[in-house]
Amino acid sequence: MTSLKNQLEHNLKLLKLPTIKQLYTRVAEQALSESLTYEQYLLELTNRECETRHNNTIQRYLRESKLPTEKTFQTFDLSRLPLKTRQIVGALRDGSFLSRNENVLAFGNPGTGKTHLLCAVAEELVSKGHKIFFSPCSALVQNLLRAKQDLRLPRVLKTYDKFDAILLDDIGYVQQSRQEMEVLFELLANRYERGSVMITSNLPFSKWESVFKDPMTTAAVIDRLVHHCVILELNMKSYRQEAAKKRITES
Ligand code: ADP
Ligand code: MG
Repeated sequence: MTSLKNQLEHNLKLLKLPTIKQLYTRVAEQALSESLTYEQYLLELTNRECETRHNNTIQRYLRESKLPTEKTFQTFDLSRLPLKTRQIVGALRDGSFLSRNENVLAFGNPGTGKTHLLCAVAEELVSKGHKIFFSPCSALVQNLLRAKQDLRLPRVLKTYDKFDAILLDDIGYVQQSRQEMEVLFELLANRYERGSVMITSNLPFSKWESVFKDPMTTAAVIDRLVHHCVILELNMKSYRQEAAKKRITES
């Protein structure tokens, strides 16, 4: 009996079925008491293995996404958004914009919830099995610049291909040098019609020339981004300021 168990567990290990290895005895007892057929028993075990695998994959996607863990819909007050914006957000949550390689651009003053909102959309979609990569725009640009200096830019750009979307937070927040702007341009050109880009920005398009330096490049970037895109305008009061005001009046 022991050697049979040993052999079985050895096989399950070889076949990389840790959940079945962990559960088969317990589920066998259950199968006996509920008079399950052999097929039902096997189905139950394989279901449990598939379930754990799926959960592990999602956990890995969430780690790889580098999304801030606290910016989810659980902590986001959707009722603050204008009705039209809320409707667009509702449509984004089904994730179909990713398969259409559409971009999502969130504009508005600082503190209006652009970062939180796009992160919440991204977090929800990653939890459903999509792959999204989050980065502050400035950090990603620095990373690309280092890659360019080491002649690794094409290879590094390729690593983003595995993501359905890249969330670039705060484009134009930091004034960039021409070289920095060039790698950002390359990234956006590389993504064009190959994958989605999600962007937050305090700057309306009319001010993007300060990011991309010359009018031609700026026009080329905007043209590609808006070709297939969804725009969210968060022109409300700053959440931070409102929360602070509330604290003052309540105290
Ligand atoms: P932005 O990116 O537009 O500057 P953030 O997304 O960083 O703004 O939001 C500023 C702060 O306010 C964050 O702490 C965020 O969690 C909070 N916040 C903004 N909008 C909401 C909202 N609708 N519900 C809950 N918290 C919000
Ligand atoms: Mg922000």
